[in-house]
Amino acid sequence: MTEPLYRDYNSYLRQLFGCRVQKITVDAGLTCPNRDGKVGFGGCIYCNQRGSGTGAASRSLTITEQLQTGKAYLARRYKARKFLAYFQSFTNTYAPLTELKRIYAEALAVPDIVGLTIGTRPDCIEEPVLSHLQALSEQHLIWLEFGLQSAHNHTLAIINRGHTVEAFVDAVERTRRRGIPICAHVILGLPGEDRKDMLETARFLALQDIQAVKIHLLYVIRGTQLAKWCQTGRYKCLERAEYAAIVGDFLAMLPPNVIVQRLTGDPHPEELAAPQWALEKQQNLTAIHQYMHAHGLFQGKEQHLTKNHSRKCSLD
Ligand code: SF4
Repeated sequence: MTEPLYRDYNSYLRQLFGCRVQKITVDAGLTCPNRDGKVGFGGCIYCNQRGSGTGAASRSLTITEQLQTGKAYLARRYKARKFLAYFQSFTNTYAPLTELKRIYAEALAVPDIVGLTIGTRPDCIEEPVLSHLQALSEQHLIWLEFGLQSAHNHTLAIINRGHTVEAFVDAVERTRRRGIPICAHVILGLPGEDRKDMLETARFLALQDIQAVKIHLLYVIRGTQLAKWCQTGRYKCLERAEYAAIVGDFLAMLPPNVIVQRLTGDPHPEELAAPQWALEKQQNLTAIHQYMHAHGLFQGKEQHLTKNHSRKCSLD
């Protein structure tokens, strides 16, 4: 049997619960401080009106209804028996604590929901929310997912992210003091970044106390600022082969214990402007695996290259 190239998420969940566990994406109808003016307007240049989510809340579906529908589908498709509620759309720690308590409780009350995984921004995680999540984690699996996207502050400024790398470091430290596991999101192919910049983000992440990573391809969604940049030639998408090579090299720099939750983007076909190959998930995974095999790479192989970097701040 060949060794796995990286530590995959399904195996981690199966080991924990003894059965297939699937995440169900939930849109709780929240907003984002980078859209409503608290830290910025307009949002990240690649984000559309659905806030990187399903748009289910705008169709008046309750959290319970979204989870029930997701359960039925995923039980049929994957024979999953337990589920995690994945609060994905917008910023899922950005509401009064009473409202957050209510939405988390609603999700956990649905049968077979064994935990929460909560997507948010690193500049948006207050101590009272962390206290509540720590209390919930005594009975349930609770993860926080922080969008870092890049370890370069100049890139975060270009994409109008509205927070710094230092905010991410601070959020990680405070979250880990509570014992809550963290998944960091990064995006490859951001404007102004080359292969070296992206691999520096890998080196940076390798030194943070994170337990998982999601690697996204930057794809262009219609109606976004990025779509305008694409039309005028200001932004050019990565090719599949370039992406596969950078992901392979990225994984090689991560510690072997970090769980890899995602290796590609997952665009809605009707929203995608470019690149069209982003829709071909299986071919993209195959390209990554082939690159890693061809270069003898596996997660952790190049971890020694991370040694001389500082944990504390952006790489600018
Ligand atoms: S932080 Fe998330 S929801 Fe907010 S603008 Fe950026 S991508 Fe969209």
